[in-house]
Amino acid sequence: MLSNRQVSPGFYLLSAELPDSIPAIRAGQFCMLRSWDTIPVLSRPISVFDAEGNRVFFLYKTVGRGTAMFSRLKPGDPITIQGPLGNGFPDIAGRIAMVGGGAGIAPLYLGAKQYKAAGCTVDLYLGFSGAAFLTEEYREIADRVTVNVGGFITDTIDPSGYDAIFTCGPEIMMKALREKCKSGDRLFVSLEARMACGVGACYGCSRKTAAGNKKVCKDGPVFPAEEVFDL
Ligand SMILES: Cc1cc2nc3c(=O)[nH]c(=O)nc-3n(C[C@H](O)[C@H](O)[C@H](O)COP(=O)(O)OP(=O)(O)OC[C@H]3O[C@@H](n4cnc5c(N)ncnc54)[C@H](O)[C@@H]3O)c2cc1C
Repeated sequence: MLSNRQVSPGFYLLSAELPDSIPAIRAGQFCMLRSWDTIPVLSRPISVFDAEGNRVFFLYKTVGRGTAMFSRLKPGDPITIQGPLGNGFPDIAGRIAMVGGGAGIAPLYLGAKQYKAAGCTVDLYLGFSGAAFLTEEYREIADRVTVNVGGFITDTIDPSGYDAIFTCGPEIMMKALREKCKSGDRLFVSLEARMACGVGACYGCSRKTAAGNKKVCKDGPVFPAEEVFDL
């Protein structure tokens, strides 16, 4: 592990070096992380926040035992990183909105960078329940950044006029955005689920969708919103 700094109370940005053999990372993908030997048993899924060469960054919120252990890591401490895993954000051209809440802003950073590099216009909508953080970093890589603190970030977006909208964060926020979209709006959601293996073997993260049972780790974590919410 190379660095691990607190960016806001309860939120940390961790970086590590990956071997050269790792395939290119697509925004929206995640890795299974562990910084312990046996207990807790399971590694923890964390989205890729950024990737530069073979350096990878993760933005995480401390919510329990595993993430608390990550927060105590010092440069040079070992960490095991499995990935990149999952499908990531799809290829889309044009005008894109990305809407994140809390730790859900994490995959939008690399997402905005990659869509911008592909020639898209990218507007970011970032919602925080406490103080905002990393907003200057997000402003550097997007066309427009809207920040909301303590309210509903979904109130600030007009979904019409975007070729696609991506959202990640609390499910209640993603549902509110889905309700705001009209038929024909292309909304993609990045789901969270408790998961054990991260590679589709254990079915621990299965979720019922309009397109049948799907594994969040392998079929997702990014899904068309209508598959997830229109059951
Ligand atoms: C694909 C994917 C990507 C993710 N990316 C990020 C990220 O970039 N940054 C980040 O901060 N977090 C991310 N998460 C969530 C993160 O994996 C969990 O917060 C973490 O596993 C919690 O581990 P813990 O040991 O600290 O908490 P635990 O001790 O395991 O749990 C603490 C509390 O959090 C609840 N909880 C734990 N995991 C989840 C979950 N997935 N959904 C709902 N409640 C949960 C538990 O029920 C418990 O109440 C992601 C999850 C998935 C599935």
